Amino acid sequence: MKTVQEALEIILAEAPPPRPVDVPLAEALGHALAEEVVSDADVPPFDRAMMDGYAVRSEDSGPREVIEEVPAGRVPSRAVVAGTCAKIMTGAPLPPGADAVQQVEKVVREGTRVTLLEPVRPGQNVTPRGRELRRGDRVLGPGRRIGPAEAGALAAAGRARVRVYARPRVALLVTGDELVPPGEVPGPGKIRNSNSFSLAAQVRELGLACDDLGVVGDDPEALRARIREGLRRDLLVISGGVSAGDRDFVIPALEAEGVRIRLHQVRIRPGRPFCFAPGVFGLPGNPVSSFVIFEIFVRPYLGRTMGLDLSRPRVAARLETSVDRPNERAQFLPAEIRFEGAGYRARTVPWAGSADLFALTRANGFLIVPPGATYEAGALVECVLL
Ligand code: AMP
Ligand code: MG
Repeated sequence: MKTVQEALEIILAEAPPPRPVDVPLAEALGHALAEEVVSDADVPPFDRAMMDGYAVRSEDSGPREVIEEVPAGRVPSRAVVAGTCAKIMTGAPLPPGADAVQQVEKVVREGTRVTLLEPVRPGQNVTPRGRELRRGDRVLGPGRRIGPAEAGALAAAGRARVRVYARPRVALLVTGDELVPPGEVPGPGKIRNSNSFSLAAQVRELGLACDDLGVVGDDPEALRARIREGLRRDLLVISGGVSAGDRDFVIPALEAEGVRIRLHQVRIRPGRPFCFAPGVFGLPGNPVSSFVIFEIFVRPYLGRTMGLDLSRPRVAARLETSVDRPNERAQFLPAEIRFEGAGYRARTVPWAGSADLFALTRANGFLIVPPGATYEAGALVECVLL
């Protein structure tokens, strides 16, 4: 049976390489940039007033005659010469001859003349042309995730369209004869379907659409038909039916559809029975198991195909509880992790096993227990933060 690390290496190696596409800037949020972006102009494009006030020659003294007003978006028509100044607004180009701006609160104006209450230094309250970026400067490079700041920077650098890595199309198929929708009261032997909601949310959290292929019963033929549909997407995520029970039909159905399973059974707890083939993950039906396998394996796979590193932050934390039951598999235990004083502290939250989704709502991460390990309170442990 593969270890978590070995399984992750196989999964990342099999992830399809990111595919570049051109998109309008407004649609680029959350994508990874697939090109080097350089500025097509100096930013700012002219010496620019940083304040509302008066553009002056810093070496002058005494009252100055106001020769014009320069609002943002206009250009000055006259040069500032000795004994003169121009009223100027934030964002307007500095008139020739002026080398500083004194803010409006620091002058006295009488009629058409102003007197500075404080002298100004050359360059004061002026952003010189090209101070932020020069034409040809690198703005952002390939692999950079486009967030709000990057979106604005790309716009300022003159990019109406950008080359990014495409988002994979993900489909979700949930299996199980026992499942009823959340709006129904489960009849005898039935339970509510929660995985359709938690897994779709995990996909959407990555900025990806999730096509819901619905719930299919434990019926080999129905399963095959629905799997065939799901395999047309970039990634099919299946919940349930991958264990060794008599009615676990997912693996035979995938194989019957020509899928070659690359991984089945990994040394992880919860989640051991999950299976992987390029383009398909079969996750165990237990809600915490499917959640963990998505976090630890599906998320990095999707990140790789999007050209992004989506791995969750890992921290070393001082454990406040103990872990006394070792396991031959790596354990991911729901934990509450917080930053306090000089570092992180973690405590495992009580949980009733891999079906107990409610424990996850009391946790904000997982304590990672390597195979065979136990911990006493006070140990320094590795945690993954959600
Ligand atoms: P399976 O992996 O299909 O053997 O299911 C393992 C356990 O998870 C069983 O107790 C199922 O009833 C439960 N389960 C399967 N699918 C879901 C689901 N969509 N939502 C909640 N529990 C589920
Ligand atoms: Mg099942």
